[in-house]
Amino acid sequence: MKPHAIIVSPLSESQQKHVIEQTYNYIAKATDIFGIKNKAVEISFNLKGRCAGMYRITHGIGRHRRDIRYNAFIFSKFYEDSINTTVPHEVAHYVSDMLYGLKNIKPHGKEWQAVMQAFGVKANVTSNYDLTGVPLKQMSLFTYQCNCREHQLTSIRHNKINKKYFRYFCKSCKQPLKFKHKESASL
Ligand SMILES: [Zn+2]
Ligand SMILES: [Zn+2]
Repeated sequence: MKPHAIIVSPLSESQQKHVIEQTYNYIAKATDIFGIKNKAVEISFNLKGRCAGMYRITHGIGRHRRDIRYNAFIFSKFYEDSINTTVPHEVAHYVSDMLYGLKNIKPHGKEWQAVMQAFGVKANVTSNYDLTGVPLKQMSLFTYQCNCREHQLTSIRHNKINKKYFRYFCKSCKQPLKFKHKESASL
């Protein structure tokens, strides 16, 4: 039986570290160029669906929480491109928020574009990623483990394994995948 993953594996921990570093590099760059006063921003990899990244403010009582959220599946499938385009894209949202306040500007207006230009990155808003293998919204994912990492399986595969007429093996370590937990992804 040849193993083939329908679902893209999400970013590894070391890749996540690298993405976080790159994010802070861009923030540092912006601090130099624009002299912004940085406010705390959380970086997470829990964005699901078709978006590669998102910058979000949650309005709380007396304080705002700022988040840059990345899609661990899209980042994994398009690693270099995500670092070169999505990271500066989201940081540029954060920077234009620091400079002008999000509610005072258009999301991809001239203020955001100016930050992208300062970063030396093309101010593209849409990407043409082939999202085959990227879990989209409302999909149940089953996490399996081999000897080297986690794998995401669809419910179809999970059911086949459950009914004991299928086994899947890891391409890297050749070990059978063992069920770990189930999660529901949503946009
Ligand atoms: Zn954007
Ligand atoms: Zn393995």
